[in-house]
Amino acid sequence: MAIITFDNVSKSYGETVVLENINLFIDDNEFLAVVGPSGAGKSTLLRMLLSQEAPSGGQILIDGEPIAPEPMPDRGIVFQRYSVFPHRTVIGNVMTGPEWQAAPLMGRLFGSARADLRDRAQAMLDRVGLGGHAALYPAQLSGGQQQRLAIAQALMTKPKVLLLDEPFGALDPGTRKAMHQLVLELWEEHQMTVVMVTHDLSEAFHLGTRVIAVDKRRHDPHAPHRYGSIITSDFEAKPRLARSLRRAERAAG
Ligand code: ADP
Repeated sequence: MAIITFDNVSKSYGETVVLENINLFIDDNEFLAVVGPSGAGKSTLLRMLLSQEAPSGGQILIDGEPIAPEPMPDRGIVFQRYSVFPHRTVIGNVMTGPEWQAAPLMGRLFGSARADLRDRAQAMLDRVGLGGHAALYPAQLSGGQQQRLAIAQALMTKPKVLLLDEPFGALDPGTRKAMHQLVLELWEEHQMTVVMVTHDLSEAFHLGTRVIAVDKRRHDPHAPHRYGSIITSDFEAKPRLARSLRRAERAAG
């Protein structure tokens, strides 16, 4: 379970205010899509959720607790590109996170612990459709396959929150459609709370249970950095009741 709360969060870089007055309650198992113009602060919002950046004001809570100040395995992230380690094989990439988690000094497990992890990594690769590519390197994969790998890698530490920063932006439409299907299935299987940044409104409404827009409302022509973006719209994209019925139908077979 992961309920995320933004409590009056703001973020500035020096004099430049990027985000202000962000009050947001993201429910457990929500799939929140964040849209807005380029430069509005969408990635900044995700980076704060990952603890790569700290808010300048206010606080972020996960399940009622202040967010850990460092990136932790409870939050996984997939970027548009370059989420994976180019010098590691496909299966090596998927094993890396849990290995560092289990053996923080060496980054390597041995014996049966390593064999068990390898089995789990292979099962995850099978799940995302990369089962036959375990020994390849990321550069030998297509763009869509690299994003499948990035998602598999993010899921291996069993995150409560999955953060997606334009994850399908560089893919062709056919590949993107297949990825949408995969992500929706994994979201249901893993019961995660997902926060996804996208430029694509139709993608936001197709995947999101809720869609928020961030943008600047106030402009000071003499001091363009003075005001940051706020949440300008908040839509429930897939009403909760419809989702619950769908899930119940699926569970009933
Ligand atoms: P979006 O994802 O909506 O395109 P970003 O969150 O990447 O927007 O950036 C929002 C604003 O914050 C931009 O004006 C950008 O220049 C600024 N910004 C982002 N990161 C930094 C940083 N590390 N230092 C200074 N300014 C930054």
